Amino acid sequence: MPRFDGGYVPRSAMAIYAHPDDIEFTIAGTIAKWARAGCEVTFVLITSGNAGTHDRKFTRKSLARVREREERESARILGAARVVFLHHGDCELVPTLALRKELVRRIRRHRPEVVLCNDPQALFFGDRYINHPDHLAAGKVALEAVFPCAEMELLWPGAGLPHKVHAVYVSSTAAPDTWVDVTETIDVKIAALSAHQSQLGDRDISPMILEWARDEALRAQAGKAAGKKDTGRSKYAEAFRVMRLMRE
Ligand SMILES: [Zn+2]
Repeated sequence: MPRFDGGYVPRSAMAIYAHPDDIEFTIAGTIAKWARAGCEVTFVLITSGNAGTHDRKFTRKSLARVREREERESARILGAARVVFLHHGDCELVPTLALRKELVRRIRRHRPEVVLCNDPQALFFGDRYINHPDHLAAGKVALEAVFPCAEMELLWPGAGLPHKVHAVYVSSTAAPDTWVDVTETIDVKIAALSAHQSQLGDRDISPMILEWARDEALRAQAGKAAGKKDTGRSKYAEAFRVMRLMRE
């Protein structure tokens, strides 16, 4: 049985997110760390981000093509084993039963020990960012697919053999309880983000990423006093709310 401490590395993980670059902004340090340690990582991107630009030179089709290429390059940098695109429309995502079933099919096929997804309740960040509705929808439908649907024998037998996910790592959450030390992989995270040229252009976002990860490391160290799990004296960290679905 895995132990969910700072050094925990699952055998396999599936990151279910809305857009190319969501994984990179939120959990890429953890992904790179786990992949380096032998975890088989699958990315599931529900959209290809085909509305994600104000640049009139793109069509939805050409933008999707570019962003899928960027995501594949980023996945290679992070050490992910595979990238799956479900080709739903950007800015149109809703957590439907049909999408839940698509995710159940992927979960049952790749059988991840851990699923990572966004917190569907995180509507506001500070006073400047209303969370993208696709992020909320992706988080909600991912959680619904993990529990209970993927593990129920009588539900959708044509979608594969039932599979029980051990734990869900919920990112971009207002209520984190676990931090992963990403000091060793923060550079890889920044490199993966820089693959998303269509989104970043010439913007250097590394100071922002470093600041976020430094803030999380400080929160982790403060949380230690409150009895929360942390990763010791890490310089950079990523934060999660971890739901453990398997009894240890
Ligand atoms: Zn996004």
